[in-house]
Amino acid sequence: MADDINHQGGCQCGAVRFEVSGAPKFVSNCHCHSCRKATGAAFSTWVGFKDDNVRWLTREPSFHASSEDVRRGFCAACGTPLTYAGDQWAGETHFLIGVFEDPTGLTPRSEVFTEDALPWALSRKEN
Ligand SMILES: [Zn+2]
Ligand SMILES: [Zn+2]
Repeated sequence: MADDINHQGGCQCGAVRFEVSGAPKFVSNCHCHSCRKATGAAFSTWVGFKDDNVRWLTREPSFHASSEDVRRGFCAACGTPLTYAGDQWAGETHFLIGVFEDPTGLTPRSEVFTEDALPWALSRKEN
């Protein structure tokens, strides 16, 4: 399957770079209010990996606790939002799809927190 390949990625300036291996646990569009604020985008496409399959090549991101049990990783040099880790999904790192060098093989399979979604962001699915 196209998803099951090694992926490298990083922030816009290149200070934070990573590599993941194996198939992602999921690829999902999240419409929640917290992700909207954290990324500045209408919704966020997340690609989840087990921490064991994640390797930081340069340095790890900086973290912001967007709530008590959630750590959002970003590059302190250029501000690119990169990752999400929460107690609810312990042992996993979720990456924003746009930080991968080649995200073309990663296809979202689900829409989550649709109760927070902007109406037009969901109608796109019918196309
Ligand atoms: Zn950067
Ligand atoms: Zn979210």
